[in-house]
Amino acid sequence: MANILVVDDDPDIVELVSLKLRSSGHAVTAVGSGEAARDALAADHGFDLAVVDHMMPGMTGVDLVRLLRAEGSHLRILMLTARSQERDVENGFTAGVDDFMTKPFSPRELAARITSILARR
Ligand SMILES: [Mg+2]
Repeated sequence: MANILVVDDDPDIVELVSLKLRSSGHAVTAVGSGEAARDALAADHGFDLAVVDHMMPGMTGVDLVRLLRAEGSHLRILMLTARSQERDVENGFTAGVDDFMTKPFSPRELAARITSILARR
């Protein structure tokens, strides 16, 4: 069981991801923007992992990850995005994500990847 922060501006994605992760036994908090994610992470240091969208109004997911890493955060981050170009994947990993998945996605694969990331550290 982990505390997971879901960051996505699409309510349908938030619902799908939250439902799957909760059914896998995780506690889920969801926010709709990078700015709200920063506030949530500042207020609660108990998050084990974040699932982060890239394209959001305001701060992008890559900007958010870059900022968190610059602040020294070791939060595990999985980027979940419709941006699937090689360059987008590369930008995500360069910013500091631990894993990257593209939409449309398999909720089962997402849960499996999260289990794997959580088991390694
Ligand atoms: Mg989005």
